[in-house]
Amino acid sequence: MNGTERLLGAWDDLPLDDLLELARETVENPELPTVAAWRAAGGRVVGHFQVYCPEEIIHAAGLLPVKVRGAQVESRQADARFGSYLCSILKTSLELAMSGRLQLDLFVTHPICDAARNLAAVWGRNFPYPARILYLPQNPNSIGSASYLTAEYGRLREDVEEISGTAVTEAALRGSIAVFNENRRLLRQLYEIRRETPARLRVDECYALVALGGLITREEHNAVLGRAIPMIAARGTQPRDLLRVVFEGGFCEQPPLELLRTIAASCYVVDDDLLIGLRWLVEDVRPNGSGDALHALARAYLDASSYSPVQHDLRKPKERMLLERIRRAGAQAAIVAAAKMCEPGLEEQVAYSRSLDEHGISHFVTEFEERMSTYEHLQIQLETFVENVLFA
Ligand code: SF4
Repeated sequence: MNGTERLLGAWDDLPLDDLLELARETVENPELPTVAAWRAAGGRVVGHFQVYCPEEIIHAAGLLPVKVRGAQVESRQADARFGSYLCSILKTSLELAMSGRLQLDLFVTHPICDAARNLAAVWGRNFPYPARILYLPQNPNSIGSASYLTAEYGRLREDVEEISGTAVTEAALRGSIAVFNENRRLLRQLYEIRRETPARLRVDECYALVALGGLITREEHNAVLGRAIPMIAARGTQPRDLLRVVFEGGFCEQPPLELLRTIAASCYVVDDDLLIGLRWLVEDVRPNGSGDALHALARAYLDASSYSPVQHDLRKPKERMLLERIRRAGAQAAIVAAAKMCEPGLEEQVAYSRSLDEHGISHFVTEFEERMSTYEHLQIQLETFVENVLFA
């Protein structure tokens, strides 16, 4: 499999609204049809759990990296494998695999929190294929972190070589880095449109387009974005008098698209941290001399990356990073969300609130769950918040 496979069906001639609808349907479908199509064609799949994974290494082995981000499914079998007081994403991710919807050849995770710490062990007991822990550095400020992480990426390379049966060469890695650089460039363009002209792309539409990247080849994702972006930029929409907000709290468990649509009814979400792992590297990765590709990926993770409550980097205090995100987007307020039972998210929510209070920035605090299904209460609260800010 070389990345030219079309998994999404015939989308080339679709008008924008239909293309966005196809993205939404694909992203919301728990049967994961694009991944099944890849497997049906003989391809192998590596699932990686939140937040970040160096997908270039998986791609360079000719495997399909799939972002495992839970789903709106009932947890029938997975519940028995976990304690009760845990977030949903762990359970529904395992449920996707146990129900046969998500078939993998390798599962990769890293211990982002106490709850996820045991995920690889639980996963490994339930499936015949390997479940690996990728240990991203606890202390990215240490001078040894880049060489440590390069070695860790080397370990992942060995794993994917074993699954694919082919060596991951330096040339293949550089080729994959180029594909992902292009993908990051296109995603930055999407977010630029959101910041500059948010009426052209709602947050839920943007989310579906971004999430699609975790379900199809990056080559196809680049082609989809390359077609969608000019149509979005030319979209004729009437700007409305909505509040410009930043949404923070979508780094791991994902809010339902319906929740994002509810927010979009009264706010322009001009930036967010949704699926931040797919946008973790904020600049192009540029290997220098020969044999430098893994090291360049490691350096980018450490030095040219975004932020989240599960990475602890003294150079990136999260409150300051949120303030910068708000400022850069020209937002008037923030929605500070956290997934239910998510310890890192809820802890950071407190710190964010305090900092926003200190800086006099209005913010709306809320919790969500991937399986929530009623939004009226949220809508009313949010409308009240928006009116208070706009007419204060
Ligand atoms: S949602 Fe929060 S608690 Fe759950 S796995 Fe992610 S970081 Fe951990």
